Amino acid sequence: MCGQRRCLTCGERFSPRPQNPGQRYCSKAACQQDRRRRWQSEKQRTDADYRDNKRYAQQAWAAKHAGYWRAWRDRHPEYCERNRVQQEERNRRQRSAVIAKKYASEADLCVPSGVYRLQPAGGGVIAKMDAWMVKIDVIARPYADGAGAGGGLQRLDVMGREDAGG
Ligand SMILES: [Zn+2]
Repeated sequence: MCGQRRCLTCGERFSPRPQNPGQRYCSKAACQQDRRRRWQSEKQRTDADYRDNKRYAQQAWAAKHAGYWRAWRDRHPEYCERNRVQQEERNRRQRSAVIAKKYASEADLCVPSGVYRLQPAGGGVIAKMDAWMVKIDVIARPYADGAGAGGGLQRLDVMGREDAGG
């Protein structure tokens, strides 16, 4: 039928209201709610002022309701305990990642050219993989400012293959 279009949310046909000829969502409550949610996430993504305003509003709300959340946490100790454990786990993972990165960048600076035996580390299925004999030529050092990050080892020649399983 002329003048009808499909709702972007439910896909059903509807007639736009005369005062809103550009209407893209039908008038069902769920579809209007979806329209608002999409609008908000689009604003959140693209509009810095919107993000700032929202953050200030949330901070103001939180300050005003600090007592509410304290009381809520007192009534839900099991939630707080789980949250604390999860946060510790996140912190631990992040520390490990930072340390691994530090060692990796130190290794970049220390590996001399030469022939290396490349052997899978760790247990399980991976340990069954073959070891490789490789020749590594360091042809440039990474710059201290990190512009050449990962550039320490720029060539890796496979010389031969060794059966690690024996
Ligand atoms: Zn709809």
